[in-house]
Amino acid sequence: MFNKRVKIKELLTWEPAQQEVTVMGWVRSFRNNQFIALNDGSTNNNIQVVAELGRFDDALLKRISTSASLRVSGIIAPSLGKGQKMDLMAHTIEVLGDSDAEKYPIQLRNRPTLEYLREVAHMRFRTNTFASVFRVRHALAFAVHQFFNEKGFLYIHTPIITASDAEGAGEMFRVTTLPFDNTPRNEDGTVNFKEDFFERATNLTVSGQLEGELAATAFGDIYTFGPTFRAENSNTARHLAEFWMIEPEMAFYDLEDNMNLAEAFIKYIIQYVMDHNSEDIDFLAQRLLEEEKQLPQDKRSEMGLKEKLEFVLKNDFQRLTYTEAIEILQNSNYNKKKKFQFPITGWGMDLQSEHERYLVEKEFKKPVILYNYPREIKAFYMRQNEDGKTVAAMDILAPGIGEIVGGSQREERLDKLEQRMKEMQVPVDELWWYLDTRRFGTVPHAGFGLGFERMVQFVTGMGNIRDVIAFPRTPGSAEF
Ligand code: ATP
Ligand code: MN
Repeated sequence: MFNKRVKIKELLTWEPAQQEVTVMGWVRSFRNNQFIALNDGSTNNNIQVVAELGRFDDALLKRISTSASLRVSGIIAPSLGKGQKMDLMAHTIEVLGDSDAEKYPIQLRNRPTLEYLREVAHMRFRTNTFASVFRVRHALAFAVHQFFNEKGFLYIHTPIITASDAEGAGEMFRVTTLPFDNTPRNEDGTVNFKEDFFERATNLTVSGQLEGELAATAFGDIYTFGPTFRAENSNTARHLAEFWMIEPEMAFYDLEDNMNLAEAFIKYIIQYVMDHNSEDIDFLAQRLLEEEKQLPQDKRSEMGLKEKLEFVLKNDFQRLTYTEAIEILQNSNYNKKKKFQFPITGWGMDLQSEHERYLVEKEFKKPVILYNYPREIKAFYMRQNEDGKTVAAMDILAPGIGEIVGGSQREERLDKLEQRMKEMQVPVDELWWYLDTRRFGTVPHAGFGLGFERMVQFVTGMGNIRDVIAFPRTPGSAEF
């Protein structure tokens, strides 16, 4: 057996008392031909390996360079140096893989920028920042499952390839095996998808919601957590072409139940990370502080990362209707001084992200849940309110991010749903299976979608969504 190692995170919790251990990892630095900072990704803290002078060959010592991989066995003892509790006094050091330090793409002394690290995303896991981000991302994902499992929700895997492009959530990526030249065509010149793999046009999914509703109307409470794809050409710090979404769908829920669940869910997963990843949150808080030192005073966050997360846990989200939001925006000094790039034209307008951010960051200074939106700017499946103008939709807006959740109570009344589909030119025939839920034992139900990367951004304080997913897919970029 090769692997009898102790992970460094675990090792650092021990009281050093001459225990014999084996560790494996990658060299972060090597000082004075004697002190190796070794990291194995379990924590940002390194174990200091001491290679006593004279004990090891020069030939071996020369191979201990940045990012070389080592297997080290020895004895742990209280450290004589400052800054660490223990040293690993090496008996044997084996180089598992050499690394040419000059060619290694990440030279820490050059203070690589986040932009540069995106170009070497295959190696950026080995930096403290990305190690912390991805450990937090893992913990959030784990907490998502734990939250729903505790509440008796079923995890449903909805399809990645779909034939319905009816949802209208965004531009879709086509899935096809048809040839580009000599594409089979119908007489009228359109592509003949009958010749395609699925004998119809198919796309990558933009949302698992419609299939999620099928499951919710049998199991009661379900959720999905999977990749979704949008070919939207928006090059922003909060849009990806491939992102992960969590979509719970609950039978017997109205809009208020839906908001309550979403708020409890967000708080739960933040609390989980605060409880289990405090080291990483402290590191990321410090990183953000350093980053913001470059900014003018008025552009810096009012709260540190940890304070912000604690604040969110302690306070109720601000809930207000779309109509109330429009009034606030209209009467704001910001609007009167024409500081919005997109003017507030009045009731019925779609809110731009600058408007959402004004409400969250300037007006309420906490997460906001906006609900009851004009039906003209929302999807066909949202439940129509009695006023004939609005639908039971809700968006959750987070400081620094903007929209993090989009959800609604669903229209469960067949006649109203069909009528709305016709008005919005959604093909009623194609969605026969969706409408069957309304034909056979329809129930009030609701659900929402939380963009997982936006949540990771919120919790880690990373400004760009490309830095919270391992290998981002954005317009013009699909390396690695
Ligand atoms: P936005 O207005 O920010 O583009 P949206 O209204 O298109 O969002 P929904 O269709 O409601 O978003 O999707 C649900 C959630 O998925 C959003 O609240 C957001 O958190 C996330 N999301 C949507 N589009 C993207 C994207 N391109 N990249 C990453 N996350 C996204
Ligand atoms: Mn969008």
